[in-house]
Amino acid sequence: MAKKVALITGISGQDGAYLAEFLLNKNYKIIGTDRRSARGNNWRLNRLGILNKIHYEEMELGELYEIERIFKKYDIDEVYNLAAQSFVATSFKSPLNTSNVTGLGVLRILETIKSINRKIKFYQASSSEMFGKIFDKKQSEKTQLNPQSPYAISKVFGHYMTDNYRKSYGMYAVSGILFNHESPLRGEEFVTRKIILGLVKIINNDLKCLELGNIYAKRDWGYAKEYVSAMWKMLQKKKPKDYVISTGKTYSIKYFINLATKYLNLETKWVGRGLNEKLINLNNNKTIIKINPKLFRPAEVNILKGNSNLAKKELNWHPKTNLKMLVKIMVDQEIKFYKK
Ligand code: NDP
Ligand code: GDP
Repeated sequence: MAKKVALITGISGQDGAYLAEFLLNKNYKIIGTDRRSARGNNWRLNRLGILNKIHYEEMELGELYEIERIFKKYDIDEVYNLAAQSFVATSFKSPLNTSNVTGLGVLRILETIKSINRKIKFYQASSSEMFGKIFDKKQSEKTQLNPQSPYAISKVFGHYMTDNYRKSYGMYAVSGILFNHESPLRGEEFVTRKIILGLVKIINNDLKCLELGNIYAKRDWGYAKEYVSAMWKMLQKKKPKDYVISTGKTYSIKYFINLATKYLNLETKWVGRGLNEKLINLNNNKTIIKINPKLFRPAEVNILKGNSNLAKKELNWHPKTNLKMLVKIMVDQEIKFYKK
């Protein structure tokens, strides 16, 4: 039987790497696209040992002709649109670029599929950030969206466009509304990886003090490696449908820090309040974490907590890694690969 062909946009990102690994194990041919000509950002695929198993193509999501070129070149079965300007803080600084890539980029792909081959199945990487200032205690597929950043607004655009192309043109187009998912392959700017890398640097005397923003925000964090299987499952159903993917548990950034310091055997103590709150290393009385007000966001999403009952029931998808296990996985790999 001929191999199925999957196109993954954002192959150089965290999810792109894990999804490629997952689909290679299912014997897919992978077309992986990124926006670079000089291939500089391939450490994740390298780490997973799959760098040479991907067919690379350049495809800037801002350029319709580049997207059309790739779709004409290959006989694609499934598209996973993971490429995005994906960092909320950057989206406040670059709202136009974020809207163009994270929002309009989705529409460019949908238009291309519509005109070239409507049988291609399409997965859109929607985000729990779309719930923003939440309307339900636990957010499900039915919860009203209330985005709070240019990133989240761009994701809402992509989400509704995907829904609209499914309804209007009968395309198999779905969105996975994924809550935060982390791993050793997470970008260094995101808070979990920033904390763990920062603490490992401090232990190695390469950093004195880590600066953070709002440590009282709460997130529903899962393990990225498990989340990519849900993307694939969504494209294997008879009927196209959107699903929430989450753990159903939520914890603060401060709680995450406490788990990480404990696992690293650092004896610490929180002192002070508000902007003066600090984490002290009790071994040498030095401040190792402090608050920098510049790292607060113009509009914050205080809490997210997902309800993925539909995915459990219809996709047989269940999260297995709790936050403590996730911290262990991330810390162990951070130490293993530090400075290598
Ligand atoms: P990453 O930031 O790790 O990866 C994003 C990818 O998009 C990178 O490969 C990046 O390339 C690429 N990209 C950025 N701009 C462009 C552009 N203009 N044209 C083409 N490619 C571009 O994100 P994740 O892997 O963590 O997430 C995957 C998707 O899921 C994203 O869309 C994200 O918004 C969404 N999502 C993620 C969640 C999470 O917790 N991780 C939660 C919910 C949704 P480069 O390497 O060159 O920067
Ligand atoms: P997001 O949920 O997609 O925005 O993922 P992030 O990991 O970037 O941020 C998660 C939460 O951590 C947000 O509420 C941030 O405001 C909060 N946070 C606090 N300090 C920091 C920081 O220094 N960096 C980042 N990225 N987030 C921080």
